[in-house]
Amino acid sequence: MPELPEVETTIRGLEPVLVGRRIDSIDLRRADLRRPFPPDLRQRITGARVTGLGRRAKYGLIATDRGDTMIFHLGMSGHWRLDPTEIGKHDHVVIETDEGRRLALNDHRRFGSIDLARSDALEAYGPFVNMGPEPLGLDFDGAYLGRALAGRSAPIKALLLDQRIVAGLGNIYVCEALNVARIAPGRGGGHIGRARLDALAGAIRSVLRAAIQAGGSSLRDYVRPDGELGYFSSEWRVYGREGESCACGSLVRRRVDSGRSTFYCPKCQR
Ligand SMILES: [Zn+2]
Repeated sequence: MPELPEVETTIRGLEPVLVGRRIDSIDLRRADLRRPFPPDLRQRITGARVTGLGRRAKYGLIATDRGDTMIFHLGMSGHWRLDPTEIGKHDHVVIETDEGRRLALNDHRRFGSIDLARSDALEAYGPFVNMGPEPLGLDFDGAYLGRALAGRSAPIKALLLDQRIVAGLGNIYVCEALNVARIAPGRGGGHIGRARLDALAGAIRSVLRAAIQAGGSSLRDYVRPDGELGYFSSEWRVYGREGESCACGSLVRRRVDSGRSTFYCPKCQR
């Protein structure tokens, strides 16, 4: 599933194709993905010029000179294909720019979405209401985590997956960051001292940055916006490495709760 680093690298790949360009056409090849497309999507996007791209949590943002922002989510299997030689049955949305570049949103499982919001009221867009800070933003640090986790006895792993506490973190990066910070996934969030929360915030930022640098990860058929196939990292410290050695020499364990795997080291994560 595309996680925050994949969305970030997607945005970086789309930027040179879209920014400053006019969208000559948007072809909606079905009426919906996870939910119906906005009824006025074609009308509001056709002829608009793209002024900038951005990301909030795992949502990509495409702003236009009409004051609209097209908000896309890649769901489980979504990715943009750049200048595809042919349009396939899983290419559900095709955008053409005034330079003749073509972008196809391919999503065979159709858990993705496209919505529209006014750019000056993005915070009112449903999923963004009550969403916590960006983990790579300036206001995310150990002090913030201390405030957000105070009095919370739920496992730190579950709390970090809560989008109201921090935006856009998924299972892989939470497992990795907890290993880097040497914090046991089951430890109560409110019982972690400030120095360890500083380390945790730093670990979250460093695992995300490393993945963005590596060009995204976690889905084998992920296609980069430049059309390149299948980039992902196999450099996980614990994720997917049950029975292999942790950096400390002990063996990585896997635990499953509510259908989700947690990979951790029982020795160095406390
Ligand atoms: Zn270890």
